[in-house]
Amino acid sequence: MKVLVADDDPISVLYLQDVLSEWGYEVVVAADGLSAEAILLQADGPLLAVLDWMMPGLDGTDVCHNIRQAGLERYVYMIMLTSRTETEFIVAAMNAGADDYVAKPFIAEEMRVRLRAGRRIVDLEQELRRQATRDALTGIFNRGAILDVLQKEIARRVRTPDFLSVIFADLDHFKRINDTYGHLAGDEVLREATRRMAATLRNYDSFGRYGGEELLAVLPDCDPEGALIVAERMRGAMADATVPTAYGDVAVTVSIGIASVNHADAVEMSDLLHRADGALYAAKLRGRNCVSVATTDGRAGPASGGAGGPDAWQS
Ligand code: GH3
Ligand code: MG
Ligand code: MG
Repeated sequence: MKVLVADDDPISVLYLQDVLSEWGYEVVVAADGLSAEAILLQADGPLLAVLDWMMPGLDGTDVCHNIRQAGLERYVYMIMLTSRTETEFIVAAMNAGADDYVAKPFIAEEMRVRLRAGRRIVDLEQELRRQATRDALTGIFNRGAILDVLQKEIARRVRTPDFLSVIFADLDHFKRINDTYGHLAGDEVLREATRRMAATLRNYDSFGRYGGEELLAVLPDCDPEGALIVAERMRGAMADATVPTAYGDVAVTVSIGIASVNHADAVEMSDLLHRADGALYAAKLRGRNCVSVATTDGRAGPASGGAGGPDAWQS
């Protein structure tokens, strides 16, 4: 696990670096408060930090305060390193957002157990977040989490000229698969289907389970043509090979609807989903195992054809 060590005293940093690496931590160093804050705010910033109180620029309590104010989704556990151990200072540090403190000069074994306590909190927090945002059967985002992603992407869209696309995918005749092979086989198929479809996405796309066998992909910076390519890949990933299960090999296809939006369109999340859902419905009507693209205004266009662009339904 990564730990940020922020201290303006190079000797102190060297010593911390030494012992922390020995205990298996990956140490990231900052020599002042401002760079400590910047590192903690990075997308994959450390979740554990040891902050010296006295540093040039921002001091340790300022860093704690600013990190809490930033409202990060992840929890950063911060330990203050301080020679001021009078109650009033400790209270001030913890009021600023510090989780714990270690007196300077510190005893290595004490630092070790305090970091371990922090690590427990961070691990637990991550596990709770995973459970709250992931679907238990498939491991992809659950409905709440994928809609959260979509809402944030729509908000971001106002400031960028790029397209945002959503892909609604629904397994075909899934009820029949359950009826024929049993629900446990159905579960296996659903797990494998999400795995195959997820593998066709770029790593900045998001994928979630909207409902039973309905899956939703959110594709930032992806125009309708790009989304069509991805959707075709998803469709092929299912149609091209049966799914082996403990109850037999199951042939399963998927129908897909796409809707896109760019900054010019003031859009509500529900409108975008409604358009993708309409396109999905059109794909079902066309006989399933196919892809349809929604019109920008929600009208249903012709069921197939290669007109291209966001203003046509196409396969
Ligand atoms: P269509 O091609 O029109 O989508 O037909 P369908 O049978 O897939 O659609 P329908 O909505 O009639 O049925 C969906 C089925 O998906 C019914 C439900 O039992 C099943 N299902 C939903 N969630 C799960 C699940 O977690 N596991 C299993 N095994 N089945 C599920
Ligand atoms: Mg279905
Ligand atoms: Mg369905």
